[in-house]
Amino acid sequence: MTSPDALRLIPGAAEAIRILNERSTKAIVVTNQRGIALGRMSEADYAAVNARLLAELASEGAWLDAVLHCPHQAGTCDCRKPAPGMLERAAREVPGATLEGAAIVGDSAADVETGRRLGVTTVRLGKPASGEPSADHRAPNLLEAVRWLTGVPSG
Ligand SMILES: [Zn+2]
Repeated sequence: MTSPDALRLIPGAAEAIRILNERSTKAIVVTNQRGIALGRMSEADYAAVNARLLAELASEGAWLDAVLHCPHQAGTCDCRKPAPGMLERAAREVPGATLEGAAIVGDSAADVETGRRLGVTTVRLGKPASGEPSADHRAPNLLEAVRWLTGVPSG
């Protein structure tokens, strides 16, 4: 996505983040943005999309403790998922964040692989392809994932 106007929060996403906020659990986004390396978008384009994300969450009373992105081409860095660099950086730089007890929730095999490399709990959103590394849990969306992780019931 290169335009903030294309950004839509998935239903329940803000509620999911709010559950984490209310429990003082760190909510951190780690995102591969190879489009920057490929010249499909600039750092400024990405920053504008991210600012819109934060504003949309704020309008629903939710916030992120950090957003980290990898702007690099595949195979050129230690932070593009499934490399663990962004999670390690989050644990190092975000006050109160730790890998111990952490979980990664994502909609790709790379997200699951990232978590497995660090030994954190993994939750795969959506339907995995055959042959993917299996996650600790599967959920249809972020809200259900957070409910499973936190033990907060539905409704
Ligand atoms: Zn990177």
